Amino acid sequence: MNFEMTLADRLQKLKKSLPAYVTLVAVSKTKPVSDLMEAYKAGQRVFGENKVQEMVGKFNEMPKDIKWHMIGNLQRNKVKYMASFVHLIHGVDSIKLLKEINKQAQKNERVIECLLQIKIACESTKSGMSSKEAKNLLKSDDFKALKNIKITGVMGMASFTEDKIQISTEFKNLKLAFETLKQLQKNMGVISMGMSGDYPLAIECGSNMIRVGSLIFGNRQYT
Ligand SMILES: *Cc1c(COP(=O)(O)O)cnc(C)c1O
Repeated sequence: MNFEMTLADRLQKLKKSLPAYVTLVAVSKTKPVSDLMEAYKAGQRVFGENKVQEMVGKFNEMPKDIKWHMIGNLQRNKVKYMASFVHLIHGVDSIKLLKEINKQAQKNERVIECLLQIKIACESTKSGMSSKEAKNLLKSDDFKALKNIKITGVMGMASFTEDKIQISTEFKNLKLAFETLKQLQKNMGVISMGMSGDYPLAIECGSNMIRVGSLIFGNRQYT
């Protein structure tokens, strides 16, 4: 007998544990298409990648009803490769990047949904805007002129620490930033926070979209 859980088992167990309003983004970066297909066959339709080339390759090989989320730091010159199909871009942290997304969305005659990345961690390696910067962005004329993007929410990453109090403080700060920004952008609804190690806490603090990789696909190996 084999007591080991399969990928599909892990996915289903996770899904069952989540409240219905929480969207699960299966973070499949570095994993082969065969693994993604296992998740797909188990019902998963939302996948997150952090590299544009890798996402484009997987998009080409996989069924077309998948919603592809870009969750990584995004370079402006890469936006064009995914503008025809990307469903949601999580890591938007500047008006410059938004303008490029808008331009490429226009070329593809579509509106691309984006989340503003807010810096909640104290580590300098994690990117994002302050709540104030995000507020100023939403108020700016430059932003108001962009018709082919839609800001639907916020995204954040907590510090890499065991300190649960610190992590929950950071998550609560993102929720607060969301509430403030929502006053300027009425149709915002998404709070993307929580990963394999901290998603239950993120949900307690108000998350409605979690990005989970290793818990579903196993640990990643970087070569
Ligand atoms: C890799 C990654 C995740 C998933 O991390 P896990 O710990 O494997 O769940 C979530 N969000 C972002 C932005 C990532 O880059």
